[in-house]
Amino acid sequence: MRPEQTPKKFPKKSLEQLQFDNVYLGLPAEFYDYRSPVALKNPRLLSVSESTAELLELRPDQWRRSDWVALLGGERLLAGMAPAAMCYAGHQFGHYVPRLGDGRALLLGQVKTSRGARWDLHLKGSGPTLYSRGGDGRAVLRSSIREYLCSEAMHGLGIATTRALCLIGSDEPVYREQCESAAMVVRVAQSHIRFGSFEYCYYNGQHDSLRRLADYVIDHHYPELAAAENRFEALLLRVAERTAALIAQWQGVGFAHGVMNSDNMSILGLTLDYGPFGFLDTYEAGHQCNQSDHQGRYAFHKQPEIGLFNISCLAQAMVPLLSNDKKEAVARATSSFDTYRTAYQRQHEAVIRAKLGLLDVRAGDVALWDSLLALMEKRVDFTRFFRALSRFDRHDSGANRALQEMFGDGEGFDSWAKAYARRLAQEQSDDEARCRRMNRVNPKYVLRNYLAEAAIRQAEDEADSSEVNRLLALLRRPYDEQPALAHYADSPPPSARSVTVSCSS
Ligand code: AMP
Ligand code: MG
Repeated sequence: MRPEQTPKKFPKKSLEQLQFDNVYLGLPAEFYDYRSPVALKNPRLLSVSESTAELLELRPDQWRRSDWVALLGGERLLAGMAPAAMCYAGHQFGHYVPRLGDGRALLLGQVKTSRGARWDLHLKGSGPTLYSRGGDGRAVLRSSIREYLCSEAMHGLGIATTRALCLIGSDEPVYREQCESAAMVVRVAQSHIRFGSFEYCYYNGQHDSLRRLADYVIDHHYPELAAAENRFEALLLRVAERTAALIAQWQGVGFAHGVMNSDNMSILGLTLDYGPFGFLDTYEAGHQCNQSDHQGRYAFHKQPEIGLFNISCLAQAMVPLLSNDKKEAVARATSSFDTYRTAYQRQHEAVIRAKLGLLDVRAGDVALWDSLLALMEKRVDFTRFFRALSRFDRHDSGANRALQEMFGDGEGFDSWAKAYARRLAQEQSDDEARCRRMNRVNPKYVLRNYLAEAAIRQAEDEADSSEVNRLLALLRRPYDEQPALAHYADSPPPSARSVTVSCSS
């Protein structure tokens, strides 16, 4: 690196040196409700993500402070914090709900870094708010561990997501199907604004607030769109593109979100609100990770289409901003559907070519992919297969026995393998270079439910968060081999295949 390219070094800070600068609170009053967090009984720090702490420029000695939990778990506030619950609405399972909002979370403040970035500190599990709708405002330990680990795992995979700074456990009982203990996660993102934030203004007829919100999002998150001829249309189209790209990436790693309600869709195209999510073990197109989703609305293969539904919710909410002429406004809003479809198609093709190790673009590639997935259906582990495919030998079919064995009878795979070998020959693919490329996009490790479950059991039954920390470290580098931890890449043992996850959290 040449001297002029050396990144400027910024001093690391103590918690007290963080500069809080909450521009979200400059929005009209209907967007939030000031509210103090309610600390948990006997709170304790279970884990810290050092890489998220680095984003905030925190000094490593800070999370070893005895008052860390008090300052981030809502018992005391740092100077400059002004906690508020964010208001939004949203389509839940296809039905509009006029007021949702942070029912169990608070925006503690926004930290401004020396690099000029601004990060929301969002405390989840912080007690009731104006938007709790009768809920207790708490989050259970198991769902907090899942959100904490998956946020960091997605980041490790290179997929846009809210981050997690730390996980706080407690002795506070909370009642779901049974008595559990409450926990908190401090989330970090450039914004927690959702599609549902726009819907809230639109359906309440608050068009001035809607405009203020759209301008806020452009000013702070999409400044390059400020000069566009129609900046609100440009915003809608950009969000459609980002959402499509995000969902194409989810499909590529076998991630099912589980609750793709429009209030869980980030205006920045981040993976947001981890609930009953799941990574595919055995490939199954219609896999439903959320046991509460009786209709299968959010099944794995429906996600791209649900992304479009959510874009249509956002587009509808933005109609008043797009033109004074109603017909023209609607035409602009609906043009986002094509933008989404085209972006999804493009990203999906890029993802599948990368997963197959293909460099050229050829007409039969999508069909090759689709025929592979049809063969894998209910038979083959998604993550393990693609990781193993990097070792495919295009010259010697006998060397591909291990792959063939993953399919049981192997017959269907043999003819697919011949087609794949022919396709690789067309671009004179070099096996070694292809292997290296494929291992950078086909992860070895993902947060399978049974792995998360083991970490949860240990934390719940033995008050021991070492497995949480082991997974956190493992999943930070999901594309690296990490031989000592190779067993974390195993498919679930038969006893763990029945792990189910519901909306209860
Ligand atoms: P989620 O499914 O976690 O995205 O939550 C949907 C809505 O319900 C959001 O407005 C949450 O803030 C709210 N909510 C979920 N659980 C609780 C709870 N235990 N107490 C209060 N509000 C909750
Ligand atoms: Mg939510």
